[in-house]
Amino acid sequence: MEIKDIEFLDNHNRENILNIKLLNHSLEKKNIAHAFLFSGTNSDGLLNIALLLSCGIFCNDGGCLRCKVCKNVLNLKHADLFLLKPSGASLSAEEFRKDFEQKINKKATNSLHRITIIQECETMTAGIADRFLKILEDPPGEDLIFILLSENLGAIRKTIKSRCQVLNWHFNSDFSSEYTFKLEEAASGTEVLLMKIISRKADIEDVLDFSSGIDEMINKLSVEMNERHKKEISFIKKSGMDEEYISRLLKDAEESHKREKKKFSNLIIAHVFDIISAYVEDIMVIMSGFGDKFLNRKNNYEVIYKNYCDNMKDNRISRFNDIQSKIALNRKSLTENINYEIALDRILAELVFA
Ligand SMILES: [Zn+2]
Repeated sequence: MEIKDIEFLDNHNRENILNIKLLNHSLEKKNIAHAFLFSGTNSDGLLNIALLLSCGIFCNDGGCLRCKVCKNVLNLKHADLFLLKPSGASLSAEEFRKDFEQKINKKATNSLHRITIIQECETMTAGIADRFLKILEDPPGEDLIFILLSENLGAIRKTIKSRCQVLNWHFNSDFSSEYTFKLEEAASGTEVLLMKIISRKADIEDVLDFSSGIDEMINKLSVEMNERHKKEISFIKKSGMDEEYISRLLKDAEESHKREKKKFSNLIIAHVFDIISAYVEDIMVIMSGFGDKFLNRKNNYEVIYKNYCDNMKDNRISRFNDIQSKIALNRKSLTENINYEIALDRILAELVFA
């Protein structure tokens, strides 16, 4: 296995280099662990590593990536390689029994090993994890190798982890960093607008520009997700598994894609609401006569005091209270399909005129 062959992997990371050395050493000595657990933040990258390791195990030339065996592995067509992926939110008992337990009880065709790769293994329900643990403890064949993949190592049972060779992988570019970048972009845009609002320099145009900017950002994110999704779909179609199974996988991929899209846009909007709420709270704190000790953002004190505390009318605090409740309500309703662009416009416009 060569580090450069692995998609998205950080070639200079010491843990990655060490992992590759370890795996190559066990391939050379033909002393392969019965169970691996690969963790990292890029699920495509993790699958890629698992497939390269499988090539190394099946190929007579140590994983040349050119022979028929290697090609079959990489295209998920190898008869003794099985990929198990959760459909919907978790790995269901039915697919575990049908697709997995049945297959591992069959004899290998003509290889020395049978490999099962389990993606998103942290989504196993408790019942499945129990059954899987029994299989790990007492495998139905000496030739079985399991490669578990997970983006969330913390969610995996200790009893399962302790039976696997656990390797953490570090990726260069992955979607979570793309998403973190967008989140930071949204946050800094929100701070800029709010600063303008509390300086009394913002008007309704600024608010409309801001919310359409956020909307655009979320749309871009979903275009990127669609691209990833398409790659996943073509990967599934090329897998050579039976049609019924493929059509179910395609349906599941569609559903998990929708869920993921909604999850990321909700996280961004919730974050924006939280920042607005922190500013509104600061306004109320200063209006109530407290000092900068109690502020979410200490630097807000001067600006807010100057712009909100001269000629204070009695009922003004209650207006901010109203805004605060609207933010809370909208934030809670994010899981229902509220139009967040309109919600942002309304709340921010009220804040501009408050
Ligand atoms: Zn080969």
